[in-house]
Amino acid sequence: IDFRIYSLHECILKVIALMESEATRFGHQIHYKEALDPVLLWMDQDKITQLLLNIVKNACEAMEENGIVRMELSLAPKTATMIIQDNGPGIPSDQLEKIFHPFFTTKSNGTGLGLSICYKIVQDHQGTIEVESEPGKGTRFILTFPLAESET
Ligand code: ADP
Ligand code: MG
Repeated sequence: IDFRIYSLHECILKVIALMESEATRFGHQIHYKEALDPVLLWMDQDKITQLLLNIVKNACEAMEENGIVRMELSLAPKTATMIIQDNGPGIPSDQLEKIFHPFFTTKSNGTGLGLSICYKIVQDHQGTIEVESEPGKGTRFILTFPLAESET
């Protein structure tokens, strides 16, 4: 793992660029609301990009045509919060606790590894990951990360 101080915003822009063609192919839109101030974390930039990519990709795979993925980045005094939500079918409550387990998948061609990798990446960055879902309405992932200490 290669930790440096890097902008979470830049990772999000990369993820949006990587997902754009797949999203538009299904008529999905990806909306992103930036934080008002820079969001700098100690991170492995490739791992954080992979983390966000896995979550956005799952959202795009879950939604019927013309879905909307909303990403929102915000700042508290010592933490960054990243919300990624979709208006897809949601996750049944009895499956919610299993989605981070390796090899849990409901897809015929899924590996079930994406979210277990996400969980590990979040842990490696001293962050948290939570999921809320309402069947029929959508799913929301909430990530938090400690901000890099400022020099002052
Ligand atoms: P895979 O994508 O290979 O199935 P993941 O670990 O990425 O594996 O996801 C595990 C399971 O979690 C998925 O198969 C799906 O059932 C569920 N899931 C994850 N994200 C969403 C989402 N945004 N909406 C609905 N279900 C989801
Ligand atoms: Mg996946």
